[in-house]
Amino acid sequence: MKNISYFNDKYVGVLGLGLSGNAAANVLVKSNANVFVFDDKKNKSLVPKKTTWLNYKDWDWEKIDTLFVSPGIPINSTKTHEAIKIAKKNNVNILNEIDLFFLTRPSAKIIGVTGTNGKSTTVALLNHILTFNKINSVIGGNFGLPACEIIDPGKNGVIILELSSYQLDGASKLSLHAAAIINITPDHIDYHEDFHNYIKSKLKIISFLNQYSKLIISNDDPFLKKIINTQEIPKSKLIKVNRSIGKNFVQNSIYLSGKHNHINAAIAIALAQTMKLNEEQIKQAINTFKGLPHRLEQIFFSDKIRIINDSKATNGEATAAALSSFKNIFWIAGGRPKSDGIGKASNCLKNVLKIFLFGESSEFFSKQILALNKHIPVIYCETLENATKLAIHKSQNSELKHIIILLSPAAASFDQFKNFEERGDHFKKAVNLYSQKGNLVC
Ligand code: ADP
Repeated sequence: MKNISYFNDKYVGVLGLGLSGNAAANVLVKSNANVFVFDDKKNKSLVPKKTTWLNYKDWDWEKIDTLFVSPGIPINSTKTHEAIKIAKKNNVNILNEIDLFFLTRPSAKIIGVTGTNGKSTTVALLNHILTFNKINSVIGGNFGLPACEIIDPGKNGVIILELSSYQLDGASKLSLHAAAIINITPDHIDYHEDFHNYIKSKLKIISFLNQYSKLIISNDDPFLKKIINTQEIPKSKLIKVNRSIGKNFVQNSIYLSGKHNHINAAIAIALAQTMKLNEEQIKQAINTFKGLPHRLEQIFFSDKIRIINDSKATNGEATAAALSSFKNIFWIAGGRPKSDGIGKASNCLKNVLKIFLFGESSEFFSKQILALNKHIPVIYCETLENATKLAIHKSQNSELKHIIILLSPAAASFDQFKNFEERGDHFKKAVNLYSQKGNLVC
């Protein structure tokens, strides 16, 4: 475990005790700091070893040197947490767990990837390309290990950080070998309060470039290009990649199908090239990539029906990517909606034959859909299990030769599930329940 001599004997606070808060607290304990921890939503029993659980209102703020804020706790908005206001008044340093990781001085090169959608797929693909080519690589941050738990793979290795808008918002210390922004569309507005603040957080990754680093962006996202043009980035640092490159490398892989995945691949390829890998090395690696669960994951296949689990699609943009990747779709959607509801998915209804709605968003989604197209049957199912059962049943009775049953919720999972993984697993179980030896039965 790492330790940082600066924090020896210092008083520090950790606000928020999720995975990253715990990881930060452990590094600070190891660094011999006096660590105070607090979480509004948790209780004392979860306190990390050798730390002191105390409400931030009772911390001795005159003594506190640094406050570590967990992602998801607003720091720059009207909803700014009271502890942060107190910290500012007392001139306390405000950092996050990503900063703390950087302060451990890892010797590996660090690559940062952000974007609204596609981050996890891109970092997983990049990690695969690097390890396939014998470059020691590890993923952390918003996906994989909390940054502070990453074991430094050494100066020839690579640390790939998936960076959420929350993490970028709260960070100030990083220096990146290369960075990528995949796309920017409205998301997490409840936290950032408006789209402008969200964009600002994403663009913060630019401030972590050093004199040698490259910034990679998608050339297929006109909005992102427009925003990047407003930033002062030297031409020599900026690499704009086309999805046609991704498509050429990916060829017919079912794990990276769809235009959106060709964009993700193009970004991962450009990042791999910053590690001096050549086209052939990258192509061979991509051929053996198996994709990630819950992102356009094929879970059933017969002559007539393919069933795809895209539970990770928690917003309209992600679902639009899924809907435009197939034809003849029986679309299962719903959950806790984002403010724009099905959002961009509304442009892709031409590929949809029937819609099965479940969860809190049912009324909202059906109103949006009916306003756009009155001919697609919309069926209210309440639960994901019902929706799955009905979709399977109706596809079996259909005269069509090829049907895609697609769970791509366009909404968060928290109304009925713990997270998108639980929602996807639940879908898989329901599909299993109604299938026998490769045949679907209802
Ligand atoms: P993130 O980590 O940014 O949430 P994921 O790779 O987990 O991204 O994908 C999340 C969802 O977005 C999945 O439903 C996936 O199919 C979809 N998606 C992936 N890449 C893109 C992209 N480049 N543009 C739009 N949607 C995407």
